[in-house]
Amino acid sequence: MQRRPTQSVMAGDARLRCSPDNSWMVSGSCFPMAGMPASILPGATLGVLGSGQLGRMFALAARQMGYRVHVFSPDEDSPTGHVADLEITGSYDDLDAVARFAREVQVVTFEFENVPALTAETAARFAPVRPDYSVLHVTQHRLREKSTLAAAGFPVTPFRAVHNSTELTSALIELGCPAVLKTAAWGYDGKGQVRITPNDSPETVWRQLGTQEAILESFIDFDQELSVVAARGIDGSIAHYGPISNRHANHILDLSVYPAELNSSIAKDAVDIAQAVMTQLDVVGVLCVEFFLTRDGRLLINELAPRPHNSGHLTIDACVTCQFEQQVRAICGLPLGSDRLLAPAAMVNLLGDLWKHGEPRWEAALASREVKLHLYGKRKPLPGRKMGHLTALGASPQEATERALAARAALMQQ
Ligand code: AMP
Repeated sequence: MQRRPTQSVMAGDARLRCSPDNSWMVSGSCFPMAGMPASILPGATLGVLGSGQLGRMFALAARQMGYRVHVFSPDEDSPTGHVADLEITGSYDDLDAVARFAREVQVVTFEFENVPALTAETAARFAPVRPDYSVLHVTQHRLREKSTLAAAGFPVTPFRAVHNSTELTSALIELGCPAVLKTAAWGYDGKGQVRITPNDSPETVWRQLGTQEAILESFIDFDQELSVVAARGIDGSIAHYGPISNRHANHILDLSVYPAELNSSIAKDAVDIAQAVMTQLDVVGVLCVEFFLTRDGRLLINELAPRPHNSGHLTIDACVTCQFEQQVRAICGLPLGSDRLLAPAAMVNLLGDLWKHGEPRWEAALASREVKLHLYGKRKPLPGRKMGHLTALGASPQEATERALAARAALMQQ
């Protein structure tokens, strides 16, 4: 039986364990002495806000490097909690609990962008928060994100701000149909968005979305969806993965392939844009830029994610340094690792739907020796819920893709 290393406490319990590493904190190694902040070295405790699979893979990378990890989220028995040293369950609005959490760690990061401003500000009083809250502020609101990027000259999907059905009617005249209406905040995996066709009534669509503030985007008939995942250190150095080619099913990422098969100048432009975005926003940590590549060869930014990204999961098995280790290195002020790709790779997500007829046949997927299984320890396999992923390596992106898809199909075979 596997030992569960996590110690769980409720946030209401003020007696959080004291870090055994306080000695080096006293030496001041996590705050600037002069100029550059000093590195946060293995043995220190890293704090993560949010406890899903991204936090879990961050914690695994951190523990591999000898760090301790504390996780704070409203959930118990979470994917990150399973592998962290300490799982703290509390509301993000419980600022006393957030302060107690931040006091015990040497740096705070997060695994999702919808962290409330006061939570991040409170944490920042006790430990550096990386990336800085200013990055979250921009990326947790679609309208702010697109306006910031457009103002800085980056290519984005054409958009308009919409606050009522009258504005929606005018925006549809300006942008044309089809279009996509999205809530300005709290959207992910296609949640909070509606596709509008010429026969739809703006009043009905506006009521259907049920929000106060939205963004209308032109519907892009794209050739492919691409992402570039990049890490940026405290010194401004950047490592990157991508472009990665992504295919979605029901708005949820289904398949990622790296390297994407692309004209080399488009690939270079995507990487240049991602690096410029990171520098512009002064990101310390990991950020993913999602693009649409239009049929006439233009790159448009769809959205940003200021953290490791689902499309970057294949870097765990396919690259010298994965996106999660880069996150650890970046937030700790360490040099970034090599982003070199070891072999073409493809990743397929495993959603809860795969459990429809019982436990998937893991042994059938693993019969292919180039396939790696990652499960997130979630107990309830709900439809659409990300339960894990498979990564396959191959001699070419096509071979890796065929292997990954065949391995996933084998999970369901009777
Ligand atoms: P999002 O949550 O905005 O990343 O949207 C999820 C998915 O919906 C994207 O990856 C696309 O496949 C699709 N989508 C979102 N916005 C658009 C758009 N403006 N045009 C075409 N497809 C879109």
